[in-house]
Amino acid sequence: MLIVMKTGATAAEIDAVVRVIGELGYRAHPMPGAARTAIGITGNQSSIDPSHFENLPGVAEAVRVSKPYKLVTLDLHAEKTVVRVGDASIGGDELAIIAGPCAIESRAQAFAIAEAVRRSGARFFRGGAFKPRTSPYAFQGLGEEGLQILAEIRYTYGLKIVTEALDEAGMDLVERYGDMIQIGARSMQNFTLLRRAGKSRMPVLLKRGLSATLDEWLLAAEYIMSEGNYQVVLCERGIRTFSQHTRNTLDLAAVPAVRRVSHLPVIVDPSHGTGKNYMVTSLARAGVAVGADGLIVEVHNLPDQALSDGAQALTLEQYEQLVVEVRAIHEVMAPASVT
Ligand code: PEP
Ligand code: MN
Repeated sequence: MLIVMKTGATAAEIDAVVRVIGELGYRAHPMPGAARTAIGITGNQSSIDPSHFENLPGVAEAVRVSKPYKLVTLDLHAEKTVVRVGDASIGGDELAIIAGPCAIESRAQAFAIAEAVRRSGARFFRGGAFKPRTSPYAFQGLGEEGLQILAEIRYTYGLKIVTEALDEAGMDLVERYGDMIQIGARSMQNFTLLRRAGKSRMPVLLKRGLSATLDEWLLAAEYIMSEGNYQVVLCERGIRTFSQHTRNTLDLAAVPAVRRVSHLPVIVDPSHGTGKNYMVTSLARAGVAVGADGLIVEVHNLPDQALSDGAQALTLEQYEQLVVEVRAIHEVMAPASVT
C-alpha cells in the first residue's frame, strides 16, 4: 500500500502517518516529491485495510500497489530520482561517466588511468579490489591494498570511487574507502548482501544479473530500498543469450523498460555488455541514445597486459574519443525525447 499525502500536507501530518504505520508493525518509506509526499508501506504479508489511513489529516488517498515491487515504482515517486554521490550525481541533467580499469593492479596502473579519466571530465573512477572471477585461479584483486590505492586516487584527482563488494566484510571496507558500492551481476541475488547494502548510507550501483528478468532486477533493488537506502542506480551490463559474437548481449531495451516503471536512474555498461574492445564505443553511443543516465566503461593504459578483462578494455586514447562522442549525443537529446 501507498499513502498519497495532499499537496501542502504538513511535516506533522506526515509524521503522524509514519507513526501509525509503525504501530501496525509495518515499515514506512516517506518519499517527498515535487508536488506531494507519498509514503510507501512494506513489511506486510497480506493486504492492509486502507481505512487505517483514509481519515488521517493530510492524507489524499491510500492506494493498493499491485506490482511486486512497492518502492522502485513511479507510483511512489513520479519524478526521476537523482542519486547524489558527494558533489556528483547520477540521474540529473549531466551524463554520468564512470571509467577505470576492471581491476586495480598496481598504484602505477591505477594512477595512469585515473589521470586520463580526470582529464576527460568524468566524475567517477571505477576499479575492482575484490574481483568475482569465474576461475578460482584467476587474479582475484588486491583486496584492501587496492582500496587504499583507490582512496589515494580520490584524494589526488577528486574522483568519486565506485568499487565492488562481494560479501559483507568487503562492504565494510568499501564503506571505509569508497564512495559508491557496486553489487556485481553475480551477486544480484545475494539477498544477504542486498539487505546489508540497504543498511548502508552509501549509494549503490546494482548490476543486472546474467539471466535476470526486469522484475527480478527491480526486486533486487527493492531489497536494498526496503532496508531504507533509496540511493540505488541500476546498471544494464548484458545478459546471457545464444549470441556468439559478443560476451553478453547488451539489452538496451532495458533502459526505456526501466524508465517506464521506475524512478531509479539506469546506466549502461558497454564493456561487459560486449566483451570486445571494437564494439564498446558503438554500444556506448547507443546506450546514451536510448536514454541512459550514464555509462560505466573499462579503460586500461596497457590493455594487452591487463590482469582481467583486457579484451574489452579501451586504450586511453579510445576512451577520450568515446567521451567526446557520447557527450555530443547527450547534448542533442532533448529530455522529452527520452521515454
Ligand atoms: C565489473 O564491473 O568489473 C564486473 C565484474 O562486472 P559484472 O558484475 O557486470 O560482471
Ligand atoms: Mn570487468
